Amino acid sequence: MPQYETESLVLKSYNLAEADRIVVFFTWEYGMVRGVAKGAKRLKSRFGSTLELFSTVNLSYFQKEDRELVSIQAVELTRSCFDDASDPDFLNTFSYIADLLMAFAPPHDPHETLYRMTKACLAAASENPGNLNNIRLYFELWLLRLGGYLPDWSACDICKRQLSQGETTRLQSSFHLRCSNCGKTKSGDVITPGHREVFHTVQKLPPPEFLNFASDKKVIIAEVSLSLKRIISQVIGRDVGGKNTSAVNL
Ligand SMILES: [Zn+2]
Repeated sequence: MPQYETESLVLKSYNLAEADRIVVFFTWEYGMVRGVAKGAKRLKSRFGSTLELFSTVNLSYFQKEDRELVSIQAVELTRSCFDDASDPDFLNTFSYIADLLMAFAPPHDPHETLYRMTKACLAAASENPGNLNNIRLYFELWLLRLGGYLPDWSACDICKRQLSQGETTRLQSSFHLRCSNCGKTKSGDVITPGHREVFHTVQKLPPPEFLNFASDKKVIIAEVSLSLKRIISQVIGRDVGGKNTSAVNL
């Protein structure tokens, strides 16, 4: 039975039988891995507190051929999020992020860039706990981009013309943009130059620098995030909170 070792993030864990837990890891080298931690519910478990949510750990496991569920051998803690996760907003934000990762990343399919992006979001949120909506947006946009689902907001989808800096556009049902020359109807959300600036800046900056840029853009961030949630909902086939596009409650 081959043994594997890799750095991982703990995304979720739930009880299995009397003393065991099932733990979902997002691993650096092997993608999403679900495994059984034998005896993890016991008080004196050898796993101790290493299976806390969003911990960074070194994971060792065995995998039988054709079995999705692996057998967890050892988990060594390298970074704990225990203090951060005592804040309900932090817990909500990263539970949402973990949920999206599990929906997007197939089991045992490595995605190193997605792993590094998630880890960078976790580190930035830990350093700047007041900016969790901005971290959500950062994650949502990069998740779509890395999955190949991000629309092109630099040009009009109909006439293919590059949009000028001050141009206001409308969002189409395909989530691409339509310029004002290509349709006078008022259907579709208005996408302003401010929205497009946020959309493009996320793709140029690492999370800490994006947090600085976004610190005074609360309403615009929330509006772009709603559009992205609608795209994500369509991709994974269930609602993740992007329905209300007419009003943003802050
Ligand atoms: Zn056009």
